[in-house]
Amino acid sequence: MSQTASLSPDPATALLSVLAQGLQRHAKSATAATLGDRSRYIGLSDIGRGLDCLRATVAGKLPAANSPFPQSNLAQAATLSRQLTLQRGHCFESLVGQALAAHRLNTLHQLEIDVVHQGTPIKAHLDFVLVSDAPVPTVRILECKSTKRLPETLYAYYESQVYGQVGLLKAAWNTPAFHLRDPTGTVLHAGLTFPELCQAQFGITLPTNSNQVDLKAWVLCLSMTDAKVFGPYRPHQAMLSLCLKTAGTIWQQLQDCLTGKSVIDSLPTATGCHPLCAFCDWNADCPKFDGPDQPGWEVDLQELVSLKASRSTLEEAIQEKEAAIKAAYARTPTKGGWIHAGTYRFKVAQQAGRRTLDKDKLRLELIGLTGSHDDADQLLARCESQGQPFDRLTISPINQKRTATPQRVAASFQTPK
Ligand code: SF4
Repeated sequence: MSQTASLSPDPATALLSVLAQGLQRHAKSATAATLGDRSRYIGLSDIGRGLDCLRATVAGKLPAANSPFPQSNLAQAATLSRQLTLQRGHCFESLVGQALAAHRLNTLHQLEIDVVHQGTPIKAHLDFVLVSDAPVPTVRILECKSTKRLPETLYAYYESQVYGQVGLLKAAWNTPAFHLRDPTGTVLHAGLTFPELCQAQFGITLPTNSNQVDLKAWVLCLSMTDAKVFGPYRPHQAMLSLCLKTAGTIWQQLQDCLTGKSVIDSLPTATGCHPLCAFCDWNADCPKFDGPDQPGWEVDLQELVSLKASRSTLEEAIQEKEAAIKAAYARTPTKGGWIHAGTYRFKVAQQAGRRTLDKDKLRLELIGLTGSHDDADQLLARCESQGQPFDRLTISPINQKRTATPQRVAASFQTPK
């Protein structure tokens, strides 16, 4: 058992605390071994995040001013929950690696592309890159994402990341920007071009011109019970330029905060009710949430949050149970008929899908009929109605960490050379 783990008199809480602290330490050492010091370069996940919130992205690269392990049971539970979510992603990634290895495909895991663009050090870490030289030179990037529920469409944050990966791989193809480490962090290849690395790793020959290669990227989203693929994403010059420009902005703002030219609270924050804010380590003193202190409200808010959590657990349990009963029914010979079970009877029958009106298609039809965009829009506007405005209560958790003050930052951090 860790010597510094803070044990509470309640053994169950103490055990969870040891687990949360251990996961935190493991995450830190695994990141250091495979990704290096993330404060000294801009990663592609920083870019995706920076497009949403510059303050959180830069704050994440500053040395932590005060990040003790949380002491309250509630805060420890939140830390454990976040660590489990984060590390579930790594477990899935290793599972996907095993699936690809079972096919004996030429697979590079955590390929690093290291470039400097207009003074900004950028590193991309690609989960999996599959390579083949026949029948035509082919490269497929596979980025794994673990999500609680599979999304209908891919989040913009993930899309910008994968566009950055495929764009950088193409742009840096024949430059010595490629590095490969084993899972312990030991360097296998460093400073090679992509064709050189594939030759060294797999003994296959790829063209030195990336235009002669079929290059695409996919995103594989995994939930606990399902998977969904998004793509393909091809190299796209405008998306790559956006990624590089965003990397430059993050790097510049980071240097300005480190040297005291700028303060973290002057940076743009995410707008609206952004989902990032609830999980943000720097939300405790975020200026977006400026407001008076009223600690007397905490108990009521805590009760409401806990009731909502119970509701969502209950809804999940209902969905799971319903799915299990439907699956069991499908295996019986009673196709569409009733089954009697004690004081209940039940059946599963197909219902017609919900009918919806496609507003964009309707608009096009109306433009065709009226021959005018304005007439079509006016007609649509006359048929639209809006509900009464309503009051919405938004509760956002305050996390533990606070951003570093510029003075502490300048004193404790060496600017990268
Ligand atoms: S709390 Fe939200 S707006 Fe503030 S830094 Fe974090 S992500 Fe950005």
